[in-house]
Amino acid sequence: MIHEVFPVGILQCNCSVFGDEQSREAIVVDPGDDIATVLDVVARHGLTVKAIVITHAHIDHIGGAQKLKKATGAPVYMNQNDTELQKMMDVQAAWVGTAPPEAVMIDSDAKDGDRLVIGATEFLVLDTPGHTQGSISLWIPSEGKLVAGDTLFRDSIGRTDLPGGDGRQILRSIHEKLMPLPEDTVVIPGHGETTTMGREKQFNYFLRGL
Ligand SMILES: [Zn+2]
Repeated sequence: MIHEVFPVGILQCNCSVFGDEQSREAIVVDPGDDIATVLDVVARHGLTVKAIVITHAHIDHIGGAQKLKKATGAPVYMNQNDTELQKMMDVQAAWVGTAPPEAVMIDSDAKDGDRLVIGATEFLVLDTPGHTQGSISLWIPSEGKLVAGDTLFRDSIGRTDLPGGDGRQILRSIHEKLMPLPEDTVVIPGHGETTTMGREKQFNYFLRGL
């Protein structure tokens, strides 16, 4: 499977493009900004975007979704528990000091157990609330990869001090949904370096005692 990860926007959100080599279908996760770059990656691999997935409705993850949706016609998936947050895009833009992006119409709720398929590859939605109420992670078992949004980082976890954040809930999500994944699962966090579940279990201070 084709997989490119690259930081977009001023907050350097990790955007992922997954592409199936046979069908040339693609899933884009967290197109926060820099949609020209996203489209370049898609075109370079000769892919057609079939789905746009938002791990949570923070501006740096969702900001470019409408632009990408317009350019590709692909439906946008987001957990409906982030709808309130999504409506606060003006407020979020003020936090970051940017202009509010064009609002995106969500096409489909992404909830625990849902599966998206491109080619023969399954992408499973895991509910991982805590950073926001609608935070999800995407697990790709056949690839041994997890796109964790801002739930889990290398050596850290997502902040829970913003509206919708809950410190106990994020730890419960990590404990119940992420810790059971195989140790060699490659974790693509919402920001910063890639890691593995095994490494985080061993070294991440926040996961001690979970
Ligand atoms: Zn976030």
